[in-house]
Amino acid sequence: MVKQPIITVKNLVKKYGNFVAVDQVDFEVFEGEIFGLLGPNGAGKTTTLEILETLRDKTSGEVFVDGFSVDKDAGSIKKRIGVQLQAAGYYPNLTLTELIELFSGLYGVNVSPMEMLAKVSLTDKAKAKYKELSGGQKQRFSIATTLINNPRIVFLDEPTTGLDPQARRNLWDLIRSIRSEGTTVVITTHYMDEAEILCDRVAFVDAGKIIGIDSPDHFIDQLVASGFEREKQVKSANLEDVFINLTGKELREI
Ligand code: ATP
Repeated sequence: MVKQPIITVKNLVKKYGNFVAVDQVDFEVFEGEIFGLLGPNGAGKTTTLEILETLRDKTSGEVFVDGFSVDKDAGSIKKRIGVQLQAAGYYPNLTLTELIELFSGLYGVNVSPMEMLAKVSLTDKAKAKYKELSGGQKQRFSIATTLINNPRIVFLDEPTTGLDPQARRNLWDLIRSIRSEGTTVVITTHYMDEAEILCDRVAFVDAGKIIGIDSPDHFIDQLVASGFEREKQVKSANLEDVFINLTGKELREI
């Protein structure tokens, strides 16, 4: 099957004054994949995401999202994408039901808050205020809000940062289920285990440039073929496995 690009980025540049945050970046995201942007702090991942989301102006280059140019058709792009807001974007004293009603009103769509909350296992928090949620629940709720307009692509910027191992695994399942319904997912993360498990392809960004783009498997196979060996023989389990084994796989915070 030929993979169709749903996002095309050509020669993208973003300067803040004299500082070049994104430096002549080219890449494509294919329809239906989970695509990861990886790289050190300050590499330019969030800046790139925000340009694709039409939330930040670029300096030069071309960006097409689902066939629409960010220059000419930002409005059409906004209708087709789901963007995870930072926590500050939610009114802390509204209930989850009220927040979903508010967002669906803004998008001009009619959704059932309970159906949206069911997608992220938060129906029993329907009457809770946003500020009363745990970190993992807040993340799940913010992912639910990205789905309100039934988007073609969702953008998730470090969705599992700060979560416990169960909550992280639960979010991986959620992200996979979003993809299994045909939605393309673009994600940034600093967790390489997460990228390896979740992403079909990843791009490594460093100092504003893409320095490698491939599937996690290919990257690892190439490194091994080059003669790389880990210094220490890795045990067949790690401390996270111990954590999960001792505390169980169930979410704690429902
Ligand atoms: P992190 O992993 O820490 O989230 P990132 O890869 O997402 O990093 P960006 O947030 O895109 O990195 O930032 C890229 C560079 O651009 C950084 O050096 C940052 O300081 C700079 N930068 C980001 N936003 C602005 C701004 N509004 N004005 C000036 N410089 C900025």
